Amino acid sequence: MKKCILVRYGEIFLKGNNISYFEKKLIDNINQSLVGIEYRLVKLHNRYCIVDYDVELEDKIVKKILNVFGIHSISRAYQTEAVVDSIKEAVLALTPKSGTFRVSVNRAYKKFEYNSTPFAAELGGEILTKNPSLSVDLHHPDHIISVDIREKNNVFVFANREMGLGGMPTGTAGNAIVMLSGGIDSPVATFKMAARGLKIFAIHYHSFPYTSEMAKQKVVDLAKILSKYTGEINLSVVPFTDIQKAIHENCPAEFMITIMRRFMMRIAEKIAIKYGCGAIVTGESLGQVASQTIESINVTNSVVTMPVFRPLIGSDKTEIIDIAEKIGTYETSILPYEDCCTVFLPKFPVIKPKLEIIERAESVLYIDNLIKDAIDKIETIIINN
Ligand code: ATP
Ligand code: MG
Repeated sequence: MKKCILVRYGEIFLKGNNISYFEKKLIDNINQSLVGIEYRLVKLHNRYCIVDYDVELEDKIVKKILNVFGIHSISRAYQTEAVVDSIKEAVLALTPKSGTFRVSVNRAYKKFEYNSTPFAAELGGEILTKNPSLSVDLHHPDHIISVDIREKNNVFVFANREMGLGGMPTGTAGNAIVMLSGGIDSPVATFKMAARGLKIFAIHYHSFPYTSEMAKQKVVDLAKILSKYTGEINLSVVPFTDIQKAIHENCPAEFMITIMRRFMMRIAEKIAIKYGCGAIVTGESLGQVASQTIESINVTNSVVTMPVFRPLIGSDKTEIIDIAEKIGTYETSILPYEDCCTVFLPKFPVIKPKLEIIERAESVLYIDNLIKDAIDKIETIIINN
């Protein structure tokens, strides 16, 4: 027998005729996540098996695979032949030290000499003989030892299951650009949309020297954490100071944020088109701040025609923080570097802006020139974990 890792995929199995496209992407993404490690990936019905790797690297491999979207769960297993003694050996190797257990046998390989129920009983008996302090509980056992008899040379014995992230393989839903700030929300929005199969591009607006190099570095660090799940991220850092100054000097203070966000949207759409992205993603959550009321969202949204995905629109801050902690972005997000949205922040931002009034207020600006100038000065950073 030898060690292996069984990999089960999630929602993909619903894909009917398209399944091979999704499977191919998933395999590519698994291979990508394991670059530099030697192993072999074997395709089985509805799952994969990773074999022929250095067992010292098993933890590392499992950790990387569990970050690949599209994977439902994995089990560290023994692979053996459909021979009674070999299966017994594997089962005994996985016997728990204490508590109750059950052996569960699945016999897809019909040439195997036993039926599943008597064979499970036989294996259970073997365990009890060798470990009299254990006991069997068929209904609520502490441990389940699973024996999956697939084919003549493919029997898998395992006693654990580690859950993956689920979702769809990165890239199967196309490309999207995320407006990535240094806050808590937009990294979580990124994770959630990447989990639906989007390949992620990111854009960040930076107000140097009003915001520091550290503020930019924080966004790079967040993108780096996210790239553990999303794969490589192309991050466009847009110098935003001139636009903010122009708004500040020429438009009523209470419209500062609204007009600024309209610029962000316009630029995001242009960069999205450049990279073949079909949607913009933001971390907005309804009612969280003045710029996230229905009226504000409507006024900022009206400058673009591309769909804007707001996966957190109905989430509470506490739910968002829970996810941020789980995916490892929270600690970085709460570092105290200012975001560009805090520069020239008015005391009383408009909460329910009216489109005509905002359009009139910003009409004094050379909008196209300001945008072109900012785009010309974009710094592109390729982020990889
Ligand atoms: P976050 O925690 O994501 O910063 P927030 O609660 O601070 O969100 P806002 O400042 O209103 O909310 O920003 C709303 C959304 O706009 C963010 O989730 C993000 O998608 C985008 N955004 C805000 N600031 C920037 C920025 N400097 N660069 C890129 N996108 C930004
Ligand atoms: Mg913010």
